[in-house]
Amino acid sequence: MSTETILKAAEAAREAIAANESEIEHLDRAIGDGDHYINIKRGAETIIALAPDLADKAPGEAMKAIAMKLMSTIGGASGPLIASFFLAASKTEGIDEPWTAATVARLTRDGVEAIKKRGKADLGHKTMLDVLIPVAAALEDGAASGEAGDALAERVVATAEAGKDSTRDLTAHYGRAAFLGERAIGTVDPGAMSSFIIIRAICGATR
Ligand code: ADP
Ligand code: MG
Repeated sequence: MSTETILKAAEAAREAIAANESEIEHLDRAIGDGDHYINIKRGAETIIALAPDLADKAPGEAMKAIAMKLMSTIGGASGPLIASFFLAASKTEGIDEPWTAATVARLTRDGVEAIKKRGKADLGHKTMLDVLIPVAAALEDGAASGEAGDALAERVVATAEAGKDSTRDLTAHYGRAAFLGERAIGTVDPGAMSSFIIIRAICGATR
């Protein structure tokens, strides 16, 4: 069931990435090097290509296999970061038990902490973390209060959108956008945009 959920989420992400190509691409052209769309598209396609091998695996093992494959296939700064999310999530407590809201909150938290550790960035540094950190917190709040699935999904999407928008007025500390200094102000971070698009798609597909 949960490995099926992962694959369903990957398919939803792949479709959403393709549907928002120009939106993602123009941001990385403006304040990066223009490859972010290609990198995440390749990431989603890699997971889907692995699907036949993953279907019979427990979620922890499936996520570990995804992490290993992503490490060697996605380029850029974002590849190792996304791979580290999956590797940490694969070891989350209870990952191979039937998933609850608490499992999803925990695996997201563990994955986000791994991205922070690996990339040394934090909230306010104009990266994907400006979306992922608040989303992890929203999932934890929702799981703790027993919020219903649809309401929680809506709040997570709104949180991701607000986090994405918050990057517009920030200067970047990491990645290529950091070299632009003040000139990056006014443009949303591409990784924050793609994270929002992916989270919105996953919430729509798995609720
Ligand atoms: P590259 O920056 O190598 O071209 P991508 O274009 O695929 O790689 O990814 C760029 C995105 O990665 C940025 O928009 C940002 O959200 C994210 N990013 C870059 N460095 C970091 C970091 N240290 N921590 C978290 N996210 C980062
Ligand atoms: Mg780039």
